[in-house]
Amino acid sequence: MGLLEGKVAIVTGAGGGIGRAQALLFAREGARVVVNDLGCARDGTGASHEAADAVVGAIGDFGGQAVANYDSVATVEGAARLVQTAVESFQAVHILVNNAGILRDKSLLKMDEGTFDEVLAVHLKGAFFCTQAFAKQVVRQGGGGRVVMTTSVSGMLGNFGQANFSAAKAGVYGLTRTAAIELQKHRITVNALAPIAKTRMTEDLPMFQGIDSLTPDHIAPAALFLASDLCGDRTGHVMACAGARLYAFKVVETPGRFKDADNGIWTAQEIASHWDALVKV
Ligand code: NAD
Repeated sequence: MGLLEGKVAIVTGAGGGIGRAQALLFAREGARVVVNDLGCARDGTGASHEAADAVVGAIGDFGGQAVANYDSVATVEGAARLVQTAVESFQAVHILVNNAGILRDKSLLKMDEGTFDEVLAVHLKGAFFCTQAFAKQVVRQGGGGRVVMTTSVSGMLGNFGQANFSAAKAGVYGLTRTAAIELQKHRITVNALAPIAKTRMTEDLPMFQGIDSLTPDHIAPAALFLASDLCGDRTGHVMACAGARLYAFKVVETPGRFKDADNGIWTAQEIASHWDALVKV
């Protein structure tokens, strides 16, 4: 029996790259899948049904069940229709993978407001809209659910030329943590993936030239784990995946130091002289 037998899963941005690999694997594991994709270019421009339809066709080819949805995740209405597609087609929804994304790299000094906003709209607001619409439905139907967010090494550590993308993905981390806390009482787990894979989003980067060991197929099983009952009640985690390497990101709070004198008010000079002790893990 497949790991997702009886489950209904939404995968956003599933027309290509990592989302496509996730949708195919989920369907092979028995899930009925809503394949969402706007069918846009890497920078978010344009729209087409082709990509989502092709993945639905590929799932049908091996006897799996899937329907397409072409809405943008970046609007409240799009996210609502996405969840509605799942409920109308399969009567329920149990899993949401927030994977859709676009890229508009520019250095911070050259980035305009539109370039910043568009990237945040898809990655961060899109993840919020879809998670909220999904969670409302899961609360209505009962029985719990699973959300898999998609953050990035760029969001967790920063990266040159990605002020918009790293801010969006760091926001997805914050959203993951808060959603995990708030949705726990409804038995909805919320975890995030930080993938590295050769897709149309990354294929022109120097680090991927001549490399075939960092594929979307390496990422999909990590999403499957987080979406399945194997994940148990683990929630609020960030699992990173790059080819054969699996690891985790954790934000660390250091013990720091307390000051006794002067009502506990540190001077800037004291902070400078105690810096190493304050940041020591
Ligand atoms: P991709 O470009 O192959 O796939 C992204 C998909 O999202 C596309 O099919 C696109 O049409 C769809 N999409 C874009 N905007 C949409 C919208 N508003 N609504 C619905 N669909 C939309 O890229 P990928 O590498 O597979 O990326 C998948 C996710 O992984 C993204 O969130 C990306 O930021 C993240 N990520 C990827 C890498 C990597 O190394 N590939 C690294 C870090 C994070």
